[in-house]
Amino acid sequence: MDERQHDTPPPWHAMGPDEALQRLDSGPDGVSHEQALQRLAAHGPNLLLQAEGRPWWKRLLEQFNNILMVILLVASVASLGLGHALDAAAILGVVLIIALIGFVQEGKAEHALDSISDMLSPKANVVRDGKRRLIDAETLVPGDIVLVESGDRVPADLRLIEAHRLRTDEAALTGESEPVEKSTAPVDVGVELGDRHCMAYAGTIVVHGMAHGLVVATGARTEIGRISELLRGVEKLKTPLLRQIDRAGRVLALCILAAAALTAAFGVIVHDQPLGEMFMAAVGLAVAAIPEGLPAIVTIGLAMGVQAMARRNAIIRRLPAVETLGAISTIFSDKTGTLTRNEMTAQVIWLPEGPIAIDGVGYEPQGDFHALREGQRNPTPLDLDAHHALRHFLKVGVLCNDAELAEEHGRYRIHGDPTEGALVVAAAKAGLSAPALRGDHNRQDAIPFESERQYMATLHDVDGIPCLLVKGAPDRLLTMCHRVRGDQGDMPLEHDEWQSHLHELSSQGLRVLALAERALPGLATLEDEHAEQELVLLGLVGLLDPPREEAIAAVKQCQSAGIRPVMITGDHAVTARAIATQLGFAQTERALSGHEIEALSNDDLKSVILDVDVYARASPEHKLRLVMAMQAHGGICAMTGDGVNDGPALKRADVGVAMGIQGTEAAKQAAEMVLADDNFATIVGAIREGRTVYDNIRKTITFLLPTNGAQGLAIMIAVLAGGLLPLTPLQALWVNMVVAVTLGLALAFESAEPDIMQRKPRDPDAALLDLFLLWRVVFVSLLLLAGVFSMFTWVLDTSAGEIELARSAAVNMLITGSAAYLINSRFLTASSFSLGGLFGSRPVWIAIGAVMALQLAWTYLPFMQVIFGSAALGPAHWLAIAMGSVAIFVVVELEKWALRRLHGGRDAHGRGSKARRDHAEAR
Ligand code: ATP
Repeated sequence: MDERQHDTPPPWHAMGPDEALQRLDSGPDGVSHEQALQRLAAHGPNLLLQAEGRPWWKRLLEQFNNILMVILLVASVASLGLGHALDAAAILGVVLIIALIGFVQEGKAEHALDSISDMLSPKANVVRDGKRRLIDAETLVPGDIVLVESGDRVPADLRLIEAHRLRTDEAALTGESEPVEKSTAPVDVGVELGDRHCMAYAGTIVVHGMAHGLVVATGARTEIGRISELLRGVEKLKTPLLRQIDRAGRVLALCILAAAALTAAFGVIVHDQPLGEMFMAAVGLAVAAIPEGLPAIVTIGLAMGVQAMARRNAIIRRLPAVETLGAISTIFSDKTGTLTRNEMTAQVIWLPEGPIAIDGVGYEPQGDFHALREGQRNPTPLDLDAHHALRHFLKVGVLCNDAELAEEHGRYRIHGDPTEGALVVAAAKAGLSAPALRGDHNRQDAIPFESERQYMATLHDVDGIPCLLVKGAPDRLLTMCHRVRGDQGDMPLEHDEWQSHLHELSSQGLRVLALAERALPGLATLEDEHAEQELVLLGLVGLLDPPREEAIAAVKQCQSAGIRPVMITGDHAVTARAIATQLGFAQTERALSGHEIEALSNDDLKSVILDVDVYARASPEHKLRLVMAMQAHGGICAMTGDGVNDGPALKRADVGVAMGIQGTEAAKQAAEMVLADDNFATIVGAIREGRTVYDNIRKTITFLLPTNGAQGLAIMIAVLAGGLLPLTPLQALWVNMVVAVTLGLALAFESAEPDIMQRKPRDPDAALLDLFLLWRVVFVSLLLLAGVFSMFTWVLDTSAGEIELARSAAVNMLITGSAAYLINSRFLTASSFSLGGLFGSRPVWIAIGAVMALQLAWTYLPFMQVIFGSAALGPAHWLAIAMGSVAIFVVVELEKWALRRLHGGRDAHGRGSKARRDHAEAR
């Protein structure tokens, strides 16, 4: 361990902010870039040691912890006891190979999940060289000035140097569940961690307010680093599907064991067979029939789904979400930034003397201002010097604001909230510089914007008088204003007139803010009550935030996939409906507001929820109630969230989705999935991927089980009939190993069927293996069984009883027949009988090629013949095997065709002939 970790840290909590800054050679502008680099080299990255995963040897040993391995080990010892030393060694060898394969596959799946956790690394807002920037929290160094606000996870131990109503949840550190109030005043040296109110500790969550803090410790030297290690990354919970498969697998294994024992007993008693031989037959039956490869293949399928989703910007935090995604029937989505681009541009400012249009789109501070008369834009730009009211409005918009405009590599960017950024850009278009204005009018106190409060207030020194500046949602602010500031001084506020201005802007889909002010001589600290009354309204500003193009396409996709998109926004109802219409939502004539939701009982909400797709002025508690109401209808819901208070709704939803860019750490922790690009279309993409994964798992299972079924039945029938075994235990082991690790895996790579988003969502309660699939398993088991027996008896008859040759032919028939059935299995109901169906999948043909190469080695290599008792086949045998395999393929295709017919023009996915035609064409 690093020696420096034993140093006793200075009592940062007992010294004033200035002294702390001095000791770390920092200041309000933070450290310089060079200093940061030096300190990073000296102190190391701001990382907690990750807990080690399971060590490799433990993972390897765990491979032996299953029924099949135990049976095989017993069989190996028994073979030795019966004098079959070669068999014993071969079984042991195969056991080791199976363990190794399982070990490697599991390692790959774990690696896939581990690499995802790197994508979840947190960011921190720092001030370096006097400039604010967003950096990886990993690169923080002592002396950095960090800005934290509600929802953030504190990235390092901080001595607070400025705090506004800061409250943090320190449960992770102290176990205290109530949030703790923070301030900048030093405390006594000896106080406990939980009472050091001027410190914010790494790993705790800011639940309210905002603060600037000086980083005093990073990485393992933070308080949390000293006591424990925080784990971040994908939680590898067993998914419901895996549990279902495990359970079913155990029951199946026990049944098979019982059947094997009974069959062997029957052989001994009825056919007078030797006990040793019957024991080996029972082992063979168990080995042949137990689908041991299945859980591993399903795990790999899920892990591959996680990787595929990550490539499309959806980062899965909890593995079960991969399955649940495929069953989602409703997506509750935030509007701003998810359905829209969150690139706000101020387009209209409405002052008491009338509206003004602003030119330009985006963050580039270029554009003129034009007066608007009855919707017509006056072509001559306004003379800004003469327009005092407009300049004042823009100035207030910049002061009551935390965003910064920066030019980086010739492009303009906003640091901070885009809504606020739009106001900074608008002011810059009028030549007003935000840093200069903020320098001239010192901010003395602030109430930060919170969705629940719907406004932000700041206290400034304007010409020596403390002045309160407020900006926020107009419907809220209008209730807080009693006058309006006109050209000729203050006038009484006409509520109806301003409501109609608000309506006019909102119905164009603009997000509207109101600005107001109030002189408060003698005031030094702000309270809510100061801001919430006797304000003087300055005007409204309408911000354009266009829908994302890809969200429009995704909404359309949802509709054909039987998924309901629902918008929940903090914005005004009229704005929300206008945007919902632009996005192509189904029901936009009505929007329910947060107030209306509050007035409804849970039952009433349940009865209206199916008729309303737009919820406005809604807060996190409303989100929770909406999810619950939809779940009461049996809906499987995804819910997006970004704020600190969205936690309960995200947890309650079947899949909680946090925003990767705009989202707070608190929201990410509560979510099952994080969107790296905050994009609604990404959720729909993940659903498509989830459906594909589930589909492929069903295909894999339907493919694998018949091989087991056919082998098990073949041995059982042989023993019951008192005949020769068509394959030995060791050969059964070989078949399972080869088929499971090569052929079965290929289906996990299958891409989505073209109609995957034209099906209704899957019923979450439906069994994985429904009647249709069970039928398919039995049907193909019998087909393969027929192939194996025909081949076995034919070769036995024609070769004058060469048992080894006959078994070789039977094993090759089984594996080649399975390979043919693999092509059938690419589509459960749709036809594989087309160029695309036959040759469309590379993995399938690579797997078939690999299996054939293995089979040739198995059949012809002398050492294989010694181990497995195989024998060289002649051309006639291969011809017969090939014909048998083609026959199996054709018969399964005929069965699919008959089933499609039986469903009266609709296949088992419930899609009609048009969808099937598209499907066929796409292939
Ligand atoms: P969505 O839920 O669609 O993402 P949102 O969460 O961004 O919307 P809020 O942030 O709660 O919605 O905003 C609600 C209203 O509050 C906005 O319509 C706007 O009028 C006002 N508002 C938004 N951001 C600010 C801000 N930074 N300062 C003051 N008022 C704001």
